[in-house]
Amino acid sequence: MVGRFAPSPTGHLHLGSLLAALGSFLDARHAGGRWLVRLDDLDRPRCREAYAASILAALSAHGLKHDGPLTRQTDDPYRYAAALAVLEARGLLFTCDCSRREIAAAATGLAGATEPCCLRDCRTRRPPATDAALRADLSGLRPVTALDRSLGGIRFDPAQHRDIVVRRRDGIIAYALAVVVDDAEAGVTDVVRGGDLLAGTPWQLALHQALDLEPPRYLHLPVLAEPDGTKLAKSRRAVALDPDAAADNLTQALGMLRQPVPEALRRGEIAAGLAAAAAHWDIAPFSGMAEIRLPG
Ligand code: GLU
Repeated sequence: MVGRFAPSPTGHLHLGSLLAALGSFLDARHAGGRWLVRLDDLDRPRCREAYAASILAALSAHGLKHDGPLTRQTDDPYRYAAALAVLEARGLLFTCDCSRREIAAAATGLAGATEPCCLRDCRTRRPPATDAALRADLSGLRPVTALDRSLGGIRFDPAQHRDIVVRRRDGIIAYALAVVVDDAEAGVTDVVRGGDLLAGTPWQLALHQALDLEPPRYLHLPVLAEPDGTKLAKSRRAVALDPDAAADNLTQALGMLRQPVPEALRRGEIAAGLAAAAAHWDIAPFSGMAEIRLPG
């Protein structure tokens, strides 16, 4: 069993991302598995080295020690080129120069448009490669249903989902392709992450199929929300967790995931507290929960 935490260094570790880090850590440790950390830093314009350092320091202060070397997506661009070559050899790639605005306008009212498809005739028109995104045509794949361990069925329907950007117009490899390739490369068997990433998962299942890769098991954790149910405020996401309050932060995160809080953690013993929390890890208390509202 191999789990992982894959933060994007676009901000500090906050309470919401601590939940994902802790959940994936405890899930791996409970199963006696390995837990990896990868910095998802392909989107260079949005990533900052200072955030990477801050996230790693916060993980360490919270006792979340990873196995093996820290990896970064930017370590090895060739693996994405190799994946694109496989998709190309299968005749699945096409260039698309639809603008976001055109796609958004055409997709208005379409169900499941979280990753809008190309809605014009780019497949047959074949726009030039310059200033165009590269998409994978998924329409010939078979439908897939996977079971999220908490939230139930994740369906990939090729008739609905059709295609996805695999290399953005600016040349950056798209997250969906990168995450599939990275997890497979590292031998990740269990992806535990925030439920905000559930909606994009069908396309990842499709890319596994297109690349002949075994998909991991998924566990999407409840998303942290404001007391009124709105998205966690930017101001809260922008605040780094206080490393001196690590035991309290972990206590709070365990409470949110409806896990018992070990005595050791109450005494401020982080390593012993995490070991006890891993021994008692149980996903049943939060299964089916899509969100957790912060107390008002
Ligand atoms: N890097 C992504 C993020 O920080 C998470 C990737 C994943 O867990 O699949 O939102």
